Amino acid sequence: MSLFNVYPLFDITPIRAKDVYVYDEKDIEYLDLYGGHAVISIGHSHPTYVKAISNQVEKLGFYSNAIQNPLQTALANTLVEVSKCADYELFLCNSGAEANENALKLASFQTGKKNILAFNNSFHGRTSAAVAATDNPKIVAALNAQQVVNFVALGDLEAVESILKQEETCAVIIEYIQGVGGLDESTTEFYQGLSQLCKKYNTLLIADEVQSGFGRTGDFFAFQKHGITPDIISMAKGMGNGFPVGGILIHPSIKASFGLLGTTFGGNHLACAASLAVLEVLESENLLENTKEVSAYFMRKAEKLSKVKQIKGRGLMLGLEFEFPVSELRKKLLFTHHIFTGSSNNPNLIRILPPLTLQKKHVDVFFEALEKEL
Ligand code: PLP
Repeated sequence: MSLFNVYPLFDITPIRAKDVYVYDEKDIEYLDLYGGHAVISIGHSHPTYVKAISNQVEKLGFYSNAIQNPLQTALANTLVEVSKCADYELFLCNSGAEANENALKLASFQTGKKNILAFNNSFHGRTSAAVAATDNPKIVAALNAQQVVNFVALGDLEAVESILKQEETCAVIIEYIQGVGGLDESTTEFYQGLSQLCKKYNTLLIADEVQSGFGRTGDFFAFQKHGITPDIISMAKGMGNGFPVGGILIHPSIKASFGLLGTTFGGNHLACAASLAVLEVLESENLLENTKEVSAYFMRKAEKLSKVKQIKGRGLMLGLEFEFPVSELRKKLLFTHHIFTGSSNNPNLIRILPPLTLQKKHVDVFFEALEKEL
């Protein structure tokens, strides 16, 4: 049977990886500045992570959410400590799209409204058709009935208000730094204004931290720089360092009730063990601090390159924008210099999403290669 051909593939087959390096079947070493799309947070095959998952699978890999699972409580408590988001409750699922889908559903239940407001060039996942196809009024939020998604330009508070004041919008969903869209970020003034408008019109604010969360920007969550309190925070990618795990943090103003949300695999024992190990390593190795330091070093180097039009992003969620499409340059970096980088909707942007264990010496290797190719 052939695979359903939806991904244009590079002709490289990784078979093992360690920290910031990936190795293919010929044992060629690649520097990973892509992290499987911002997923690898604490480095590939980190010993603490490997041990935590191995020990857990020997004991109990999975059991139902209908039975007590103390690992979920441990994860919730550790998340509070590390993220400094004290006032939230945790619901676990398996991916970013699922996290956002649950967040949107909760917003619809909570407000009784159905429309969504999102921003131009945003990306929040691909699965919302699943809810639309479910025939059970207890599970399906008002979202299901003729839901409209309005898109406005990032930074345009007037456009936001003109939609929210129609009183039909249950949620505004936003990436505080756009990922797939190409790393655009607005101002603290805009984000605070947006938060106030959401409160004024009884609309929930969903921070999509699927890509930017878990330390990627040097803050635990990207929104924390702007001093706001979202109603729901969605998380995935870096949360499991490659183990599929997602979740939402839910403000206590939103009350739980039996059956409101649910999942078979979400929050299973292995997923919790993986995510607990990620949090342990983020703390013990000061990876948020490292992210800020290495990011500043990267920026200094990038500023010296005259061909770079703009440096975008924060922490280790970075982009270099050029005046020309970068696909050939990325191929040269990959096949000549053995460096993985990322792309985005902006064809002129190289994205850098490495493990947060990245060191200055790795940044040097990247810029040496880049200078040669430029
Ligand atoms: N939200 C953001 C900001 C993302 O970048 C992504 C994936 O790239 C998603 C949601 C969807 O996550 P997943 O692919 O795990 O469903």
